[in-house]
Amino acid sequence: MRGIHIVRLFGIDISIDPTWLIILFLLVWSLGAGFFPTLYEGWPVAEYWVVAVVAALLLFGSVLVHELAHSLVARRHGTPVGGITLFLFGGVSRIEREADAPGREAVMAVAGPATSAVLGLFFLGLGQLVAGPQTVHALLMYLGVINLVLATFNLLPGFPLDGGRLLRAALWKLRGDMLWATRGATYGGIAVGLGLVALGFVLLLGGDFLGGLWIGFIGWILVQSARSSYDQAVAQHALSRVRAARIMERPKGYLPPDATLRGAVEDYFLELDARCLPVGAEDHVEGLVCLSDLRRRDRGDWGREEVREVMVARDDVAQVDAKASAADALQLMMSRDVNQVAVVENGRVLGFIDRGRLLRYVYLSRGRERGDGEEGASRDAERTSRDTDRGVDKAA
Ligand SMILES: [Zn+2]
Repeated sequence: MRGIHIVRLFGIDISIDPTWLIILFLLVWSLGAGFFPTLYEGWPVAEYWVVAVVAALLLFGSVLVHELAHSLVARRHGTPVGGITLFLFGGVSRIEREADAPGREAVMAVAGPATSAVLGLFFLGLGQLVAGPQTVHALLMYLGVINLVLATFNLLPGFPLDGGRLLRAALWKLRGDMLWATRGATYGGIAVGLGLVALGFVLLLGGDFLGGLWIGFIGWILVQSARSSYDQAVAQHALSRVRAARIMERPKGYLPPDATLRGAVEDYFLELDARCLPVGAEDHVEGLVCLSDLRRRDRGDWGREEVREVMVARDDVAQVDAKASAADALQLMMSRDVNQVAVVENGRVLGFIDRGRLLRYVYLSRGRERGDGEEGASRDAERTSRDTDRGVDKAA
């Protein structure tokens, strides 16, 4: 999930997903037309709306601070952070690797809710101290309460919420088995999600149509993300145990740099049934060309343009060391937003790995472990292909 880039804070890119604008609109509307007029009477109409807009923006600011806390703690522990995206339900930090020890996982997880709790108490305290107009007081009280709600909700013991990550860290510590712990915390996520769906129904039956629908929807999303986060954790685990060199594909041939694009397609890509080919010779690779690069060129020029004009130069190709893990290869693909990486050893290109190859490996290794049916495993592989976003934090 990348969204529209808005700003860079502490070296971390902050983006917003288009769905965020929908929720901002709904939030302003419900605060300006419902919440503030019900609690505080007698303000001029315009004032309700101004306070509603400021409150909504500061709520998202609070979510952002929560996510920044996760990201900064992760980075302090040497885990790369791809950025933060604000979306429909709050925020998500793209922390590009699962924690490698339960203690670290716990610290990373607790950083967000702890920050929200401190923010909440800060706003409530400020609300007591400031002797300004009622609007300012109302705004501060709202932000105080909503940050405490944010902290509490995210501490529910359901993976991938922060509380679920804490549960996983505890189980992990208990048995030393990360996958077993993830499974336990995932059951927690499904249970919490179903609980929220049930609560939504109760509210709905009690006449709170909007509130019931909202809580039920969040519960359902939590059930779904518990399952897909589990699959991602399993995939990550499988990929971290195999070296890049073991699952790479050796080049099926080498493209001459002066071949035309038409010649490259007819004599090499089709002939060798390849999707990407290195340019040059085995001991002197100059670059890489993939079919997707050719598709971007005007077909009318295929007879004239040469391979060297469209290739990605060797130094620009994303590359991992042969001894690195397949998980490192995936992480590099995600952070560079590319579909393949070169596997190199002592400056020589040994082969290539693309996303499809990683998915097939995960699929086969899962099938081996569990004797899975084909349908289940390919569903898992599909989920794994999505960004392995870390936490999903939700703001009600
Ligand atoms: Zn969080």
